[in-house]
Amino acid sequence: RACLPCLDKKIHLTRASLDNAVEAIITIDSIGTIETVNHATYKMFGYATQEIIGQNVRMLMPEPFKSEHDHYLSRYLTTDSPKIIGTGREALAVRQTGEIFPIHLSVSEVHDQGKRSFVGLIRDITTQRLAEQQSREHRDELAHADRLNMLGEMASGIAHEINQPLTAISLFAQAGKRFLESGKHDRIPDIFDQLSQHALRAGAVVESMQNFARRGENQREATQCSRLINKIVDFAESEARMRDVIVSLDEIEQSVTIVVDVVQIQQVVLNLLRNGMEAMQSVNFVNGNLIKLQTTLREDGDLEVAVIDSGSGVSEDEKSTLFTPFSSTKEKGMGMGLSICREIITAHGGHLMFKNLESGGAKFYFTLPIERNGASNG
Ligand code: ADP
Repeated sequence: RACLPCLDKKIHLTRASLDNAVEAIITIDSIGTIETVNHATYKMFGYATQEIIGQNVRMLMPEPFKSEHDHYLSRYLTTDSPKIIGTGREALAVRQTGEIFPIHLSVSEVHDQGKRSFVGLIRDITTQRLAEQQSREHRDELAHADRLNMLGEMASGIAHEINQPLTAISLFAQAGKRFLESGKHDRIPDIFDQLSQHALRAGAVVESMQNFARRGENQREATQCSRLINKIVDFAESEARMRDVIVSLDEIEQSVTIVVDVVQIQQVVLNLLRNGMEAMQSVNFVNGNLIKLQTTLREDGDLEVAVIDSGSGVSEDEKSTLFTPFSSTKEKGMGMGLSICREIITAHGGHLMFKNLESGGAKFYFTLPIERNGASNG
């Protein structure tokens, strides 16, 4: 606690410097009566000398501090328990005009010949607060613009993601018609199952996108890697059959737990599988009709999921724009798939990458952090 003996003398000696201070400096006695003030006090609070000296310091405070101040002061004098004395803090003050403004206040106790009084140092922080608020508003505006941007991208994304189950539905419907025409009625129930599954999947994609838009976060759950992959293979295999592609599962890592938005990760893998199958089709399966889905544990401890195709490989021209929205070499492609995939994987704390293979074809692979204790935290 600061102890400044002979304050009056000191104040007198240093009057000029006190009056030049930007801070208001106010001394009060033990019951709160204002004894001295410097020039900045008049400027800050808007009172004339005679209006302020001899008044209770409460006049400079807004409610509820105004009513509580006597109580604070007497409690401090009887218990000596410091609340604000000796430390600085932010508070509110009130000008003569009634305007309430933010201040930084530090109070020291002064002992002068057995008399206890207090010196308050007050800095007006209105400008600082205003600047902070403006920068907060600016940040909010940026965030808003960002969200609008994202919504725009998302609309294209939804179109892209919904197109895939719709394409599958159309393919299965055509196949169903062929089975009917050729009398293969035993195949029809399977076709209906597939139609229903892909329709449900389209619904799940919309829901997942809606959640993403609404809360800006994903619906994550702790999932066993093998469960996730098996579900994807279920979906992919029926489509692969239609395209005469064989999906082989190379599951080196089965038991690890990952905390993911299952629908989104499925979406990524399905996208990669579909891209791979299309790349294979585009070269008429010259490198075979096998597409591999592989899960491994990396040396850095992350899970790696890879889709290894035997297609065209990524062309030199394509390499730099692959993950840019709206870049596609396909006639009906929107070029949104990979950019969304990368966004999803990045949001999960992983990376999506690719490389061309010597044998022809490409490997698209992504990492995901593994949940070490196996428990859900999301
Ligand atoms: P879209 O599928 O709508 O074209 P994507 O973002 O999924 O959009 O893919 C962008 C482009 O990347 C594709 O048009 C294609 O040229 C290339 N590409 C993606 N995957 C592969 C792959 N496995 N092999 C070769 N090229 C690929």
